[in-house]
Amino acid sequence: MVAKVAIVGRPNVGKSTLFNRLVGKRLALVDDTPGVTRDRRVGEARLGDLKFQVIDTAGLEEAAAHSLEGRMRKQTEEAIGDADVALFVIDARSGLTPTDETFADLLRKSPTPVLLLANKAEGRAGEGGLLEAYSLGLGDPIAISAEHGEGLADLYDVLRPVV
Ligand code: GDP
Ligand code: MG
Repeated sequence: MVAKVAIVGRPNVGKSTLFNRLVGKRLALVDDTPGVTRDRRVGEARLGDLKFQVIDTAGLEEAAAHSLEGRMRKQTEEAIGDADVALFVIDARSGLTPTDETFADLLRKSPTPVLLLANKAEGRAGEGGLLEAYSLGLGDPIAISAEHGEGLADLYDVLRPVV
């Protein structure tokens, strides 16, 4: 059985960019798990010699404003409940927000192992956010740039034991 890796985090941190980087064009056709919200994408990821299924939690754009928090929570809970490991993405450039803290609370309570990724870490603008990420209590953050393809060897090193 191929491992399932869920990419989670608040909007705009770079989850879909990471998904696209890992999946390229190998998009799964459907995610027809019964009773599961549709707003997520599943793909066949490759990272070095690793192959795994990756789930992008997306589609929050459509959420009605009043239910955004609730939908994010539900979608994230579904994705991580189903996953062997969660990639929790934060934006190293913007630093932590209260929504990141909400996600971190949720993930700390989950039995699913979590790897913390500080994205947009190319250049020096991400250094503050990277340091801040240690305070989430989810282990050492891994600095990546999904857009520029940086930090993927470090991601490989932490994913290899779990996928
Ligand atoms: P999502 O809402 O979490 O899925 O985030 P997206 O993948 O849609 O990305 C949100 C924005 O961040 C887009 O404008 C991306 O181009 C940008 N972005 C994603 N990854 C990086 C990165 O590594 N560095 C920088 N500087 N921008 C990024
Ligand atoms: Mg997205």
